[in-house]
Amino acid sequence: MTCTNCKSGRMVEGKTILTFSRDNSTIVVKDVDALVCDLCGAWYLTPEVVEEVRQIVDAESKSGHEVSVIKMGKAA
Ligand SMILES: [Zn+2]
Repeated sequence: MTCTNCKSGRMVEGKTILTFSRDNSTIVVKDVDALVCDLCGAWYLTPEVVEEVRQIVDAESKSGHEVSVIKMGKAA
């Protein structure tokens, strides 16, 4: 798979970190499985991962914590 951003890099499996703001909360999700460009660093998430992250953020936004840091893992 070629990078859609720089058009010349190769997308390789890696991890990224995402930050979300919901109401008064900031939710940081670490170790998100992503395809990362080996040239420009652009990343792409599969629909499955997007859905998983969305559920984590939805659940965490109800916790009332101002800042949450969540590490994604295979067990999640
Ligand atoms: Zn690229």
